[in-house]
Amino acid sequence: MRCPFCRGEDSRVVDSREVEEGQAIRRRRSCSACGRRFTTIEELVLSVVKRSGVTEPFSREKVVRGVRRACQGRPVEEDALQQLAHQVEETVRSLGVAELPSHEVGLAILGPLRELDEVAYLRFASVYRSYSSVEDFEKEIADLRAARRGAPSGDDERTSEDNGEQP
Ligand SMILES: [Zn+2]
Repeated sequence: MRCPFCRGEDSRVVDSREVEEGQAIRRRRSCSACGRRFTTIEELVLSVVKRSGVTEPFSREKVVRGVRRACQGRPVEEDALQQLAHQVEETVRSLGVAELPSHEVGLAILGPLRELDEVAYLRFASVYRSYSSVEDFEKEIADLRAARRGAPSGDDERTSEDNGEQP
């Protein structure tokens, strides 16, 4: 890494520490030519293997783009997309592998997307799981309904009714 001040090629590490829970290392360097200091970050690259066999580095931005497409016309804020992508990154990084197939990334998207917006989830799942019939959608919707029934938010609503609270 060239010195950002003098473009010198030689530097020595004066300090290094782990950041982002050990996913990256931050190094403080001193340029051998001009003596000025700068910081570099060394990050573990998580590779995603596409169906075609091509490998590319995991990209949070790519997750955002894919989900944004599924969210078109839905009341989903940009912030929520960023948060979802962050969550997906944490999930796939926590797998502790250097390389993972792209469908694992899709899988990590489905859970949080379902929480975020059910319509966007159905759109995304239909592509990801390559639904081929109306029955596939019906089954997915049945699963959504079942999950909704089991959701703790339903219990909360019942509690507030019991207390006689008005919204
Ligand atoms: Zn320098």
